[in-house]
Parts: sequence; C-alpha cells; structure tokens
Amino acid sequence: MAYSYQAPVSQTLFDRASLVTPGGVNSPVRAFRAVGGTPRFMVSGAGPYLTDADGREYVDLVCSWGPMILGHSHPEVIATVQEAVARGTSFGTPGEGEVALAEEIVARVEPVEQVRLVSSGTEATMSAIRLARGFTGRAKVVKFAGCYHGHVDALLAAAGSGVATFSLPDTPGVTGAQAGDTIVLPYNDLDAVRAAFAAHPGEIACVITEASPGNMGVVPPLDGFNAGLKEICATDGALYISDEVMTGFRTSKAGWFGIDGVRPDLMTFGKVMGGGFPAAAFGGRADVMAHLAPAGPVYQAGTLSGNPIATAAGLAQLRLLDDAAYAKVDAVSAEIRGLVGEALTKEGVAHTVQSASNMFSVFFTDRPVRNYEDAKQQEAFRFTAFFHSLLSQGVYLPPSAFESWFVSTAHDARAVERIAAALPAAARAASEATA
Ligand code: PLP
Repeated sequence: MAYSYQAPVSQTLFDRASLVTPGGVNSPVRAFRAVGGTPRFMVSGAGPYLTDADGREYVDLVCSWGPMILGHSHPEVIATVQEAVARGTSFGTPGEGEVALAEEIVARVEPVEQVRLVSSGTEATMSAIRLARGFTGRAKVVKFAGCYHGHVDALLAAAGSGVATFSLPDTPGVTGAQAGDTIVLPYNDLDAVRAAFAAHPGEIACVITEASPGNMGVVPPLDGFNAGLKEICATDGALYISDEVMTGFRTSKAGWFGIDGVRPDLMTFGKVMGGGFPAAAFGGRADVMAHLAPAGPVYQAGTLSGNPIATAAGLAQLRLLDDAAYAKVDAVSAEIRGLVGEALTKEGVAHTVQSASNMFSVFFTDRPVRNYEDAKQQEAFRFTAFFHSLLSQGVYLPPSAFESWFVSTAHDARAVERIAAALPAAARAASEATA
C-alpha cells in the first residue's frame, strides 16, 4: 500500500528507536505492523487532540488505549500532578494518597471490600490469579480466547490485543509448565465452561474474563454470560475474576459491574484509575484479600506500588468522573458510532459497529461478532485502508482491527466535525480496498 503523505520526523525517530529498541517501540501494537506505515511519535496532547513530531494534529480515538477519559492535559489533573511532584516523587512508605485512591475505588465498586494498588494491569491480573490459586489451593485457570489480560505468562494463550494483531497463539518463552494449567475456551459459550468444570471438578482456581471484552475489538458478553460464569464458579468453589482494566471507571462510574451487576470475587483495574500514570489495582472479597501478604501468606509487592504522583493523578481523574461526565462520553461515542456506520453504509461496505457503553469498534463483516473466531472472519484489509485514510486526514485510530476505540469528555463538536469530514473518503478507501 502506498502512503501519499509523509511523516519525516516520526520516521527519523522510528529509525533511531529501531536501533536501540526491538521493533522501535516499547509495546508492540504501537509499531503499526498490522497496518504498515510510519508510527507517529506524539509530542503533546490537549483535549481530544494529539500533535506528532511533524507538527500534525490528530483527533485522538485511542486516548492512550483508554486512560485519557477526560482528554489530554486536563487542567485539574495537571495541576494536581504538579502539586504532587513538588512534594517528591516516591517515598517507599505508605502515604495518604494511596489510602484516598483505595477508598474511592471501594466506594465506587461495591464488590470491592479491599484493594491492593500495583503499577500495571498485567501486575493486577498476575497477582489476582496468584491470590486465587493461593486462596483455593487449586492450580487451573480458565480464560477465554481473544481476551487479553496483560502479558502474564499463563494468560498469553489465545490472547487478544497485540497477540491477536500478530497472530501469535503461543508466545515463545512461555513454557509448557507455565501455560499447562490454563484452559482456553471460546468466549460467550457457557456450555464450554460447564464442560471444562465437569472435566476438572475441584481443580479450577478461577475463571478470569474481561468484564466486557475490548481486546478482540468490542465483543460484549451475551445476556446472562457473566452471571452464568459466576454461578458455575460459585457451585464449584472457584473464584470469578472480572478483569476491568479496560472497562473499569470507563463504562460507568462503577465500570462494567455498574452495568451488569454481577458480583465478582476479585476484580482488576488499571488505565482510567491512573489518570495517565502507571497505577492499577486488584481487589474484591475481604476474606480473599486477607490472604495477601503481610496479612496472609500469598506474596505480592512493588517498589513503586501506590506511587504518590500516580495516585494523585488517578484520584483527581476519578473525582472529576461524575454522572454528567459519563453521560457526555456515552453521547459522543454514540454520535461517532452513528457517523461511522452511516459512512460505511453509504459506500456499501459490510460492517458491524459493536459497542459496550462508550467503548466501540468496527468489524468489517456484516455478521455479529460474538467471539474471537467471529472477529477473525472480518475483512481486516479494509480496516487498513480505512485507518490510513483517516490518519492522513488527521484522525488517529488504534492501528489494528482488533482493538477498541476510545473517546473522552473532551471530544467536542469540533472534534466530531473533523471525524465526520474525514469519514466519506475513508469509507470509500475501505470499499475499494483489496486483500
Ligand atoms: N487487562 C485488560 C482487559 C487490558 O485491556 C489490559 C491492557 O490493555 C491489561 C489487562 C494489561 O494492562 P497493562 O497494559 O497496564 O499491563
């Protein structure tokens, strides 16, 4: 595919980066390998916009893969961070900020009675699984194909996100022993879950699922799926872990729990709760959390866990996320989804726009997508053409057909107009694309 526009400064930076960093990036999907072309090196963000090293401005529909739900450089978050930085950057002791953030999470998400702060979503899911195994004395973990829970060894089997983008069903470096206790099942298939529990009674420590998956594109749970998981787990004595790293504090004030009301035993959080800094968490039932060191025997720790800058940023962001903020994000998401669907329909492009609250993505197929196998049936080559047309017109999408799009409270009428103006040509490019 020829790219009719250039990004010379980004290209120079990418060349430099490629000499000193594998693939030139610090997280694989950023390299644009699924869509080709030059990854944009961003230098600043303001509201719904990002500006790259070549001075080009984009409407951002990635929002740092979810965290920036108030848009970039929100003045109150920035001011809070500046005040926190002036007091020092890390103490390695307990601090009031981490207590306040934990209290905010416990207040918002009713099933979370206790919470432990960590620095990434990966750490949160890794620790939650260790705790589930320690609590139950069992080894096996059920996960679903297309769900991504970070790059935890045992959870990389059939993961979505970057693993989907690169079609890496099994990652070298993960040993048979590390993945041997992972049972991977098709998403949205309760019969498969029942069969796995029937085959391994009393052996499964937990089922971990994205509360509403966004890492194979947006594939919401069918009615009753999460409730069914909870019931099967409860009957067998396994724990139900809801991974809300992506959905937490984004899909509602209480994340996906606020929408489906199914009570997990443990939950994981990240992204929005860090306000753009590395902060994440896992929490849930107090009797389970009591097994964590130093209260209990399951070890878990972190030099920068509860970092004062990250907790200050996260708390500032959460406190700004009231009902009005969610209503705004939901409304702009619906508006953009409508525009995308309209443009693709006009050009006769087979597509399905799927959403989970304000998270959404476009699949280039006219069939509903219920699991990872369905997602892989889409004509991803059309996404590539669509993506590059939008990029050249200053609209920044996730550089993969297997990712959620994200919007913020800062996506105003002007940003939406810019997207609307770019969509007809992008839809045409998608319609003319060939495999
Ligand atoms: N869980 C889910 C649902 C995610 O979407 C992600 C990241 O995208 C993770 C876990 C891992 O989080 P992190 O990238 O902060 O390690």
